Amino acid sequence: MRPFSQKINVRVALIVAVIGVFLSLSGSLVVFGLALEKQESLSYRLIEQLAASASKASVAAVYVDDEELANEIINGLIINDLVSAAKIHSGLTVLASNVPEDFDSGSISRDLPHPFIEGEPIGKLELIPDTRFIEQMALQEAQNSALQILLVSFVITIAIAGTLQFTLSRPLLKLKEAFETVDPSSPENLQKLDIDYARPDELGYLIEQINGLIRAVRANFLAERKLRVHTEKLEQQLRLLFEKASVGVALISTKKGILIENPKFNNIVGTNSSLADFIEIFDDSESVANVIASLKASLNSKPIALDLSYEVDGDRRWVHCLFATVTDQRVVARDDDDVLFEVIVNDITERKEREAEVRYQAQHDALTGLYNRLGGEVRLQYLLNQSQPDVTRVFLLVDLDKFKPINDEYGHDAGDVVLVEISHRIKTLFNEPTDVCCRWGGDEFVIGFQREGLPQSSLSTLCNTLLHSLEEPIEIGQDLKVSISASIGVVVVEDPVRTVDFWIGEADKTMYEVKKQGRANFRIS
Ligand code: GH3
Ligand code: MG
Repeated sequence: MRPFSQKINVRVALIVAVIGVFLSLSGSLVVFGLALEKQESLSYRLIEQLAASASKASVAAVYVDDEELANEIINGLIINDLVSAAKIHSGLTVLASNVPEDFDSGSISRDLPHPFIEGEPIGKLELIPDTRFIEQMALQEAQNSALQILLVSFVITIAIAGTLQFTLSRPLLKLKEAFETVDPSSPENLQKLDIDYARPDELGYLIEQINGLIRAVRANFLAERKLRVHTEKLEQQLRLLFEKASVGVALISTKKGILIENPKFNNIVGTNSSLADFIEIFDDSESVANVIASLKASLNSKPIALDLSYEVDGDRRWVHCLFATVTDQRVVARDDDDVLFEVIVNDITERKEREAEVRYQAQHDALTGLYNRLGGEVRLQYLLNQSQPDVTRVFLLVDLDKFKPINDEYGHDAGDVVLVEISHRIKTLFNEPTDVCCRWGGDEFVIGFQREGLPQSSLSTLCNTLLHSLEEPIEIGQDLKVSISASIGVVVVEDPVRTVDFWIGEADKTMYEVKKQGRANFRIS
């Protein structure tokens, strides 16, 4: 609640009242002075007229020297309230008088002319004005005039104050009260100022403008709220999408590192504060660094995909990473040489493991764990493709002798045990990383290897060692052992341009010669 003196209608009323009081007082003072003066001069003029009208009778009284007449004239004159006393002179003597002896105030005198001789006075009529009465009367008149002015001024002041109150203060007060109902904290409830004021003056214009503003504010607010609700919903959906995504997403700046990442990203590659840390976690960090360098150099505007492996707690994990430059400049304000890119990371460890498993199964023999023919051919071809000088490459084809009877006599499982043990012995002897041991089919094995500067004698020794290793008894059951031999065809690869099949074919031919010549031996072709 505002202090009383701060209310505009009160202030206006006070100002009008002060001005009114001042004007009426000063006006009445002036009027009082003027009325006083006017009334006095009027009284004196009346006394003079009275003197003039009594002068003829006075001349007669003086001319005939009739004292009684003179006294009657004087008595007639003093009946008038304006005259207190009168004196009629005849020459230098007083004919009649009722003026007190000690009276010495001013009087109004008039010469009495000779009735027959023009220009010669015969006496004087002297009238003493009743100054107290005149003053009282003038004062009364002046007071009345001043009072009238005061009254008129008071009425005018009231009229002005009323007019101001009606035309200005009251509409302003209504405007103020209407404003008090406006709650800026809830613009949706904003209503136009409902004031019954339709005059096309400044106040009307002001109210119209304010209502226009209120309409605009409300419309803006509603539009903005609609937009905000929509944006918030969109943001929530995007946040949900971002946070619950099944793939890791990160926005990375080449200068500032990882700017934002979703939980899945952290879950997959851990929380890395710097770009260098992110690059370093991968086994092939060089490829990652190259991709980022090419994005930075804007060489590649297309997304680049990489399958990357890394180690977590001793486990090898795989991710499919998609790197793409973010060209939208609105994302983050950045330096010219700062490039933004997004990384989408998908954990493909399970898929990779499944693929590896399938690949392993496709290339390995389920029983012995050696390469099967399919996997063996690839590895043997790889061996042939090596072109180091002074390296001897050798293919061995091993076929077990009379294996079928073991199956027949001890059962297929016993045969399997023999095949597994034979494989184990082959692998034990040929355990170099480049050695390729395969089960070519049935009881047939192929071994491919390379040795630096391998002389014929050493090769023979190696074949002999293999032969005797395979001939060692094999335990196929409790207290049950079997012995088996093998026929081995050996080829030393002279011409690496020839195919794997060619050299296997050569080894096979040699092996058959061994079979023909009684088995349990090897032959180098
Ligand atoms: P040879 O001395 O002439 O080589 O005669 P062999 O008895 O060894 O007979 P051959 O090499 O012609 O045949 C191989 C046999 O191996 C035929 C098949 O019954 C047997 N065999 C093939 N695959 C398997 C297998 O996975 N497990 C078992 N137990 N036996 C197999
Ligand atoms: Mg055989």
